Amino acid sequence: MSIHTITDQETALKSMVAKNKWGTFFGVSQETLDRVWGTLTAPHGNSVVYITMEIGADLDVFHPVKKHLQELGITDSTNSVFDHYAKLFLHGPQKIPNYGGGLGILAGDTLKSMAELRTPTVAVSLLYRKGYFSQLVDARIGQISTATDWQPENTPSLYLLKDPDNPDLPLEIEIPFFDELDRKTIAYARLWLKMEINHDLDFFTPEILLDYAIPSSPDWIVKAAQHLYDSRSDQSKIIQRRLLGAGVIPALKALGITSRILHLNEQHGVVVVLHLIAELLKEKLGDEYMYMATDEDILAAAQQVAKRIVYTIHTPVKAGHDRFDTNLYNQFGHDFCQRILHLLALDEEQSNFFNFTAFAMRVNRATNSVSRLHRGVTRKQFPEFAPKITAITNGVHHLTWISDAKADLYNSFSEFNQWQENPLVFSNAGLLLNNPKFRTYFNQAWQQDNNALIDYVNNMLLHHRKIMYETWIDPPNYLSMMDDDNFLEPGVFTIGFARRFSTYKRADLIFADLDSLAAIINGFGKPINFIFAGKAHPADEPGKKLIQQILDVQKDLYDKTNGLAKLVFIPGYDMHIAKLMVSGAHAWLNSPKRPLEASGTSGMKAAMNGVPNISTMDGWWVEGYHNGQTGWKFGIETDLNEACLSESRASLFYNEDAASLYALLPDVLHAFYDDEQHDRYLDKCIKNIELNIPTFNTHRMAAEYIQRYDIALPSSAAKKISALQQAYISNNITE
Ligand SMILES: *Cc1c(COP(=O)(O)O)cnc(C)c1O
Repeated sequence: MSIHTITDQETALKSMVAKNKWGTFFGVSQETLDRVWGTLTAPHGNSVVYITMEIGADLDVFHPVKKHLQELGITDSTNSVFDHYAKLFLHGPQKIPNYGGGLGILAGDTLKSMAELRTPTVAVSLLYRKGYFSQLVDARIGQISTATDWQPENTPSLYLLKDPDNPDLPLEIEIPFFDELDRKTIAYARLWLKMEINHDLDFFTPEILLDYAIPSSPDWIVKAAQHLYDSRSDQSKIIQRRLLGAGVIPALKALGITSRILHLNEQHGVVVVLHLIAELLKEKLGDEYMYMATDEDILAAAQQVAKRIVYTIHTPVKAGHDRFDTNLYNQFGHDFCQRILHLLALDEEQSNFFNFTAFAMRVNRATNSVSRLHRGVTRKQFPEFAPKITAITNGVHHLTWISDAKADLYNSFSEFNQWQENPLVFSNAGLLLNNPKFRTYFNQAWQQDNNALIDYVNNMLLHHRKIMYETWIDPPNYLSMMDDDNFLEPGVFTIGFARRFSTYKRADLIFADLDSLAAIINGFGKPINFIFAGKAHPADEPGKKLIQQILDVQKDLYDKTNGLAKLVFIPGYDMHIAKLMVSGAHAWLNSPKRPLEASGTSGMKAAMNGVPNISTMDGWWVEGYHNGQTGWKFGIETDLNEACLSESRASLFYNEDAASLYALLPDVLHAFYDDEQHDRYLDKCIKNIELNIPTFNTHRMAAEYIQRYDIALPSSAAKKISALQQAYISNNITE
């Protein structure tokens, strides 16, 4: 390497280090840091605060700074500061386990798109020192949850913010808690900043993560702050919700952030609304506001606050909505807060409960559901608010979810010019439908992705066998105990299924009648792989039972099909495994009971890679199915009514929907395996690229949200956003 390039590299590194009074950051220039921070702290705030319980943004699936270093060929530096950052970003830990599933990944994908669209946004969330649980799976025990160890201290893109008055110490903010006699205890939080840097490294979304598990906080706070979705008790749930909601304003104040709009990603952070109402009343009535405010004052203040709140509701399923006993809640919040909650958050059915969904529904400028179908369901569930419930269909961050092989493919066709910046160009895929070169390259890229998935699974099978005597974990997959010759083979038709294991998602639906399934496979006579993954919340016993059922089916299925059908479960589902699966499978299975899957996003990830879905007509698939051009549908499509919301086993339509899926399966197998038909299969793949990528990406989704926020953007950003807004209008439905 010439001296010249080394100098260039040093210059490049230097331009990637930026400082302000909160710390030193890597990956963006000083100019970018100052510009973004300047907008967020401008006196008349024109930015968005995105409040969320979880954020999924692992670095092993999207890491533009690392990619940039690799492209420049930088491995180290003689300057010790640069050297530290280069090595940390290239080799540091890639996982930030602060997510449990779809909600968190949606948050991460959204914040990444906000950075790409150069829309000033700051997220507020919690930092969980023990993250979400890690999943081990034992053939006989099923899911075993263990603590997750990770070190925020040496994770790239994550910074502990400093106290500007005392730069040797971390910044700490105070959040008061109260007991039933309104005696005050202070919880303390340190602030971490995770930077979601865009692909051009010229904009970023800061995520402020509140870390309460620090020595100055009381023990009970430290305990409650350890695990994401700690649901040992309603008490720990209440504390967690308060840690998030009550922390927002103090954190923003400490950093001088002046945003106008606050977006509640689910109702978890709605406690922030209490604080905004109290703040307004204090401005109006002075320090004695708690004694002076009338009910009318409170309701008027709530109306004012509502102008700043945008709320997204993510699920019709009851477990997703927080309800707390008023007496229990009273042990943590101030009397005056209870008064506000009594006025605005009482549960309709049980008046001794606060209902946080009702609260969030009541105080906002816009309520969004996450798909067109979900809009109808939500309106039925909350008739009082029906007129203001609109739809913004979810999306996924295409730069995160398109595999490397597919990215190379998309790069080689000028029809997709600038697809990184502009996912709308994928609508040009129609021009390539009959282009033999594109079809061949697509197949090659798909084979590469399939090989990667099968390699991963086979290595895992072997690894489980090797470690069984050290760990005493019985390998979760029967295949681990067989000869290596019986492991998976690339090119075999592979159905993928991965998501949280909860009852309404019906992971076991396709195995509901094993004899029928085996008869179809035997009748067809070609091999088939089923690759499954997913975690069940540790307190969700039926969810854990579903995992056990998947394990229990393996051997029977294998035996009944003489080894044609192989079912594998991958433990420890995370974003990396998700990316391998959605790109390497040949079809993506989605079998929730309609209409309980409000949106679903893993199917969109598959679509981004051209992989067709086989799905019930639920969530996003109602919009993504295009009369069969992009995949298959099955299952009954009843009208929306009360019964359709039930999650009891009897009302999950196992028999009907499994039968419908079995009726479809031979067609799918023929389409994949028969030479004359395989072209039609490939058509479906390309149609996914053409019809679904331009719509189901978070750039388009964020653009629709930006409309709801009603914030002014610089004209450079506004033009691009307006094109995205026109491309698809989720709420354009008559009903
Ligand atoms: C995408 C994703 C999910 C959500 O998938 P759904 O289809 O929306 O249920 C959950 N977990 C991980 C790790 C994911 O990548």
